[in-house]
Amino acid sequence: MSDASQRQATLPASGGFGGPDGPTLDDLLRCVHCGLCLNHCPTYLELGVETESPRGRLYLMRAVSQGRIPITENVVRHLDLCLQCRNCEAVCPSGVRYGQIMEGARAEILRDGHRAPASWRAGRRILRRFFSHPQRLRPLLAALRLYQRSGVQGLLRRSGFLRLLPGPWQNLERLAPRVSARPFTAQGIVGSPQNGPPSFRVALLSGCIMPYFYAHVHEATIRLLVRQGCEVLVPSAQVCCGALHLHSGDRDEARRLARRNIDAFLAEDSDVIVVNAAGCGAALKEYGELLKDDPLYADQARRFSALVRDVTEFLADLPLSDGLAPLHQVVTYQDPCHLAHAQGVKAQPRALLQAIPGLELREMAQPDQCCGSAGVYNLVHPQMAQRLLRRKMKDVASTGAQVIATANPGCQLQLEAGLRRYGLPGRVVHVVELLDEAYRKGDQAV
Ligand code: SF4
Ligand code: SF4
Repeated sequence: MSDASQRQATLPASGGFGGPDGPTLDDLLRCVHCGLCLNHCPTYLELGVETESPRGRLYLMRAVSQGRIPITENVVRHLDLCLQCRNCEAVCPSGVRYGQIMEGARAEILRDGHRAPASWRAGRRILRRFFSHPQRLRPLLAALRLYQRSGVQGLLRRSGFLRLLPGPWQNLERLAPRVSARPFTAQGIVGSPQNGPPSFRVALLSGCIMPYFYAHVHEATIRLLVRQGCEVLVPSAQVCCGALHLHSGDRDEARRLARRNIDAFLAEDSDVIVVNAAGCGAALKEYGELLKDDPLYADQARRFSALVRDVTEFLADLPLSDGLAPLHQVVTYQDPCHLAHAQGVKAQPRALLQAIPGLELREMAQPDQCCGSAGVYNLVHPQMAQRLLRRKMKDVASTGAQVIATANPGCQLQLEAGLRRYGLPGRVVHVVELLDEAYRKGDQAV
């Protein structure tokens, strides 16, 4: 008997997802097995097997829930390979709440620790230690910045030495985006319109990693919002949104972070909470669901979630101010899964791009297929993430675009790694960066 089958045989039988977060049978029975989601599922399209499809995974979870099968290593492996991209949820005619179901199943498997793979338990420890307290990452980020900017990175990459490193380290080195020259540390009121009272008081989520890797996206977001007449504030007591914890099954920690953010943001009495990272925005919009059984926070969580807007969603609802200069660039737009499928925001980023004079938007064949980033998926499932990235970069290359616009830091870093890996020219930007660029060019022309 192999090691794997021996371990599987010794796993204790389960009576289903018994804990408070487990998917209910009612939720699972909504799937009528029509199969309409199959050809939208990246893992099914790559592997072509039912157990790596939404329908197959739901069927497995239903069998566990009914006590017909135990939670074995094989069951966990099929659930683990899911990207949680929610493409299946967006196309399902029966309204299967796939994201909630998968997060709940993972939470129950992780809670009952001995059934969770070691990688899930390690992931929980890392996320709690560093992402819940991102200031702890500072020494690591300082070392990474030195590595990237001293010339050592270029030297090691050219020498081929990196191929001698263990696989996970090679993967980390390949994916790490450039550390910002200056992290985004602003707090309190960070921008106000110069002419007249503000039209909106906007609270901005700064997030755990964005301030260190994509500080310039926050800066562009603030400039844009101020141009549209908003007062922008960054609540100082905010913490990580908890999205990575949620996707990894750590709902307890996600709830703790959600409560802290609710306190931090509601105390600011803003008109709207704006987010420029799709994964974080989806998590914030679902705080109401996450805390629905919390007697102290349920109402506040619903109120909080109702205030949340993705930055593209918010800007597209405003009459954009004058002053956009032409940008003669061919751009293709990559839909972040947690913007397109979890939040249903697809038209707004495109409308903003098309508002820039001279910009040509060329669509990929499958702009809303996952690029393989999916939170920490590209670190824990590098092979599948690479297959999806290869497919994505072929799609990008077929457009002839010089610029890939998107709206989520995880997609941005994955697509940047894709350009490097396949030697493609061009750059990856957030939608707000292009708008900001057009306005700044307009300022220079005056
Ligand atoms: S999840 Fe929805 S689309 Fe997919 S098989 Fe079930 S009912 Fe059909
Ligand atoms: S969330 Fe994405 S990867 Fe997972 S089953 Fe649905 S479509 Fe497939």
